[in-house]
Amino acid sequence: MRSVAIVGMSLAGLRAAEALRRAGFDGRITAIGAEPHLPYDRPPLSKELLAGKWEVDDVVLRKQGVDDLALDWRLGRRAIGLDLSDRHLDLDDGTRVDFDGLVVATGSEPRRLPANAFPDGDSALDGAFVLRSLDDAVAIRARLEGRPRVVVIGAGFIGAEVAATCRGRGLDVTVLEALPQPMVRGLGPVIGGVCADLHRDHGVDLRLGVSVEAIEGAGRVERVRLADGTRIDADLLVVGIGVVPATDWLASSGLTLDNGVVCDETCLAAPGVVVAGDAARWPNPLFDGEMMRLEHWTNATEQGVAAAERLLASDADAVPFAPVPFVWSDQYDVKIQSVGRFNADDEVHVAHGSLEERRFVALFGRAGRLVGALGFGRPRPVMQYRRMIGDRRSLAEALEHAANG
Ligand SMILES: Cc1cc2nc3c(=O)[nH]c(=O)nc-3n(C[C@H](O)[C@H](O)[C@H](O)COP(=O)(O)OP(=O)(O)OC[C@H]3O[C@@H](n4cnc5c(N)ncnc54)[C@H](O)[C@@H]3O)c2cc1C
Repeated sequence: MRSVAIVGMSLAGLRAAEALRRAGFDGRITAIGAEPHLPYDRPPLSKELLAGKWEVDDVVLRKQGVDDLALDWRLGRRAIGLDLSDRHLDLDDGTRVDFDGLVVATGSEPRRLPANAFPDGDSALDGAFVLRSLDDAVAIRARLEGRPRVVVIGAGFIGAEVAATCRGRGLDVTVLEALPQPMVRGLGPVIGGVCADLHRDHGVDLRLGVSVEAIEGAGRVERVRLADGTRIDADLLVVGIGVVPATDWLASSGLTLDNGVVCDETCLAAPGVVVAGDAARWPNPLFDGEMMRLEHWTNATEQGVAAAERLLASDADAVPFAPVPFVWSDQYDVKIQSVGRFNADDEVHVAHGSLEERRFVALFGRAGRLVGALGFGRPRPVMQYRRMIGDRRSLAEALEHAANG
């Protein structure tokens, strides 16, 4: 293999480039990224950057610079097509990039409200934002200076973090969520309830089980109208209703697209084509081949490395990618950490602390096996459970471990 193209130069793409060089690959690496920036870190966008504690320079991912990676950078360029038989990419400036190996790391992009929810179908209404990119975060932060009344639509991780950060800046914040609890998809209803209390105690006007009908305003966001007719005044709207994999550009490529680029357990999507990060969907052998697409920082890092190594490996030497999922979120002074894979049907035990004091670790079991752990303000024990899940330990062993210490 003499040349590799990486499409999507954020976390997974950068980690793949680093891993290729670390493994001794000295061929050409073309690094194609739609954003004009060098790779930067997204988690601080809703936390330190929005809070005004960090500046743009602080979110740069590779602080020591990128020159040593000797990449052929194509920033501000979008791949718009992939020809697998001829092994080339088409970019939006009309150029083409030939490759022997390809890393797809195009991540995900925010789901948006339908245009007809906005006055005159104008989804670019002044004051309405999503938060995915550095440019989004910088634009939102600039608005916060004017002390707007903030309405957040969606109480998933991003919406909850934006709400917490804006409350930290002393702003009026209303959160509108269609489901009965915040972060219920990621954390389940019981812990979702703890999160609801956390936000309410910090002064968020949290409205659950509500449906947004329309955004109102003359030339700028002024109100949000709910299906029951309630109107909520707003100067700034942040829509955080989830993400979708950024794979439209691959529609006619021949790769299998199904809620992400589908690849095998070694991250291989086609001969010489690997996929990593938010855009990848693969059968995780650690969870009996359950198809997973993770939208978390640690996965983008780990899978970026695994995918690069797969590209360089022979089929016989290829190693399955079998991580224990890990995600964290910082809200107010609470660190929430989730490891493994759990859902509302799993057995739940609070193994350290208590829900009432809002400092606990909950363990999740399925068919006797430890499948997940959730830490709320208790960061230290969680990583031990990550290891235990990776070792396929039983729930009983985990509970005994908790009881002993
Ligand atoms: C505000 C925010 C806070 C977060 N906080 C946390 C957190 O606390 N904990 C956690 O675990 N995770 C968090 N995440 C999630 C984490 O940042 C993502 O999982 C991670 O960024 C995924 O990395 P990626 O490289 O797969 O994709 P992305 O970061 O989405 O990057 C993909 C890149 O590909 C580019 N691209 C897309 N299409 C093309 C194309 N056709 N051609 C060229 N380039 C293209 C995009 O512009 C983008 O730069 C957060 C995300 C956001 C937005």
